[in-house]
Amino acid sequence: ATMPPLLSAIANAGRHGVLVKSAVAMERLGEIDTAALDKTGTLTEGAPEVTDVRPLPDSGLDENRLLALAAAAEHPSEHPLARAIVAAARARDLPIAPTEEFTAVPGRGVTAVVGGHKVSVGRAEALADPEDGATVRAEALADREDGATVGAEALTGREDGATIVLVVRDGNPVGTLALTDRLRPEAAATTAALTALTGTAPVLLTGDNAHAAARVAEATGLTDVRADLLPEDKVNAVRDLQDSGRKVLFVGDGVNDAPALAAAHSGVAMGRAGSDLALETADAVVVRDELATVPATVRLSRAARRLVL
Ligand code: ADP
Ligand code: MG
Repeated sequence: ATMPPLLSAIANAGRHGVLVKSAVAMERLGEIDTAALDKTGTLTEGAPEVTDVRPLPDSGLDENRLLALAAAAEHPSEHPLARAIVAAARARDLPIAPTEEFTAVPGRGVTAVVGGHKVSVGRAEALADPEDGATVRAEALADREDGATVGAEALTGREDGATIVLVVRDGNPVGTLALTDRLRPEAAATTAALTALTGTAPVLLTGDNAHAAARVAEATGLTDVRADLLPEDKVNAVRDLQDSGRKVLFVGDGVNDAPALAAAHSGVAMGRAGSDLALETADAVVVRDELATVPATVRLSRAARRLVL
């Protein structure tokens, strides 16, 4: 028999390196009229590197001890930032202590007991929010003469667009780590292709700070940028767009992206660095690590739908 067009399109997408999970998923990809994109691991490669290790002056820690402490707390985590922090500690031959009571909170950070101390690594606002497991008081970040810059950067990011994570030990901030990730070479071409396909520029939805978001937006021609989002904010942004009548394609990679992937008309996960939850939730997975295959698959779907209808 000749293959039905949607099945041929799935086979075709497979040759491009995109696994579309069903004929319905293939069909829905062609129906989208708006794209919303995650930043870290989606527009960027998702292989960040630690570029700065900055202990607070009164922490009693030097760079290596701060990095080793953060690496110990992050060791059980699969998050790209965690992998980068552990890799940086290994590159310096630092010992990575065992942890107990590890917990990861998607879009916020991790907490673990290391050598009898409760250590958290993550976004400063989340660690400062008392409703969120209160590991650090907000004043401890804001009102420090010695560490004023560190505190401010941890809260707002910095000009160069690095991702800044705070390290907290027993409720006290002890330092920050800066991490940078590279833009995917095909990022700008992909946002341009999605703009052409939908008639409107994609929206950028990220849990990272505003400076980091702005850098990536500028490089990819995006103007609707929403930063500092928690996972629930991402899903709400997708829902709001859909409530206003749009059919949203959401592309993401993290555990934090899973609710938005589920809520979107079509959810596509980046496969290489993507979390299992994101891959399971998505309607399609980019198996070959090439973002440009996403608009290509939308085109395949539209062509197949023209044959079906
Ligand atoms: P994005 O939306 O940019 O892909 P995430 O939602 O995964 O990123 O993370 C948002 C922010 O939460 C990060 O920029 C970081 O500040 C913090 N964060 C999340 N997970 C971790 C972790 N394992 N270690 C440190 N920080 C983390
Ligand atoms: Mg991400």
